[in-house]
Amino acid sequence: MKCLVTGGAGFIGSHLTERLLEDGHKVVVLDNFSTGRPENLDNLPFADQLMIVEADIQNQDLIMPAFKDVDWVFHMAALADIVPSIEQPLAYHGANVNGTISVLEASRRHGVKRFVYAASSSCYGIPEFFPTREDAPMRPRYPYALTKMIGEQYVMHWERVFGLSAVSLRMFNVFGPRSRTSGTYGAVFGVFLAQKLAGKPFTVVGDGTQTRDFTFVTDVVDAFVSTAASNLRGEIMNIGSGNTYSINFLVELLGGDVVYIPKRPGEPDCTFADTTLIKEKLNWSAIVSFEEGTQTMLKNIEYWREAPVWCPATIGEATRGWFKYLGEND
Ligand code: UDP
Repeated sequence: MKCLVTGGAGFIGSHLTERLLEDGHKVVVLDNFSTGRPENLDNLPFADQLMIVEADIQNQDLIMPAFKDVDWVFHMAALADIVPSIEQPLAYHGANVNGTISVLEASRRHGVKRFVYAASSSCYGIPEFFPTREDAPMRPRYPYALTKMIGEQYVMHWERVFGLSAVSLRMFNVFGPRSRTSGTYGAVFGVFLAQKLAGKPFTVVGDGTQTRDFTFVTDVVDAFVSTAASNLRGEIMNIGSGNTYSINFLVELLGGDVVYIPKRPGEPDCTFADTTLIKEKLNWSAIVSFEEGTQTMLKNIEYWREAPVWCPATIGEATRGWFKYLGEND
């Protein structure tokens, strides 16, 4: 197949690109390198089958030619993270909503066969039930979550109205190599690995008993590829590990000292995907255990050498907007 991966230089997108190349597909990566890194695409197998197009997905004219003869589109490009989305909601709307419509239109006009959208479990907000099913109420609590949710609605609209063969996959706490952020205070693995390398304590939020459905990136990528290869359409499906793990357990696996920082408002105490639907429809389930995935992260820890090292004071500063705006809607 000829595949197009938006955000292919990012964390999950680069793993997906690698897998597609390994499977013998041709891949076009579309990335503006705002948060994606060129080095994420270094040393990939079958690199002669890879084409990299540097363009912003919001620029229809620029991205249009890249969709020529494309069979499968994986729309992974997005601005991520909570804090910057509170500070720059317009940029998030641009990248995650306008960007999505632009990619949908390019896909439709080129008659692509399959479209898979990278959706976020943040649409559930603080869920009432665990594991959380796809029909749980949508309660986005910050602009990032809202823009990803609206993006998903656009995808489903294009499926119904224009007949685009599309599926949306809602990811839960994905972790794996190459998940480094450049400056923003982001996902916990990157924060903790940089702290470990610097010999600093892990900044554990609250008492560390909160749990997350940590899903290893190769499992996530497998769900995306299986979805594209199937004939499912119009479905919205969770992708999760099948379990949920506490931050204290993560600390135990990583090994190191701990410093406690205040619990953040609007944060769920648990995320846990109900994956019955994707198991039923695609016979997919995660195979990499949390312990095994964490060992892989430790083996690759050098990647986080250049990552910012956070401490309670800098986190306090970086999350000021979080405490200011997200406390009210509890
Ligand atoms: N977390 C933590 N210390 C940090 C950053 C995060 O203990 O410095 C915890 C946080 O409370 C949450 C989990 O790690 O329970 C995952 O946080 P992340 O920001 O990666 O994802 P999300 O909160 O969006 O699920």
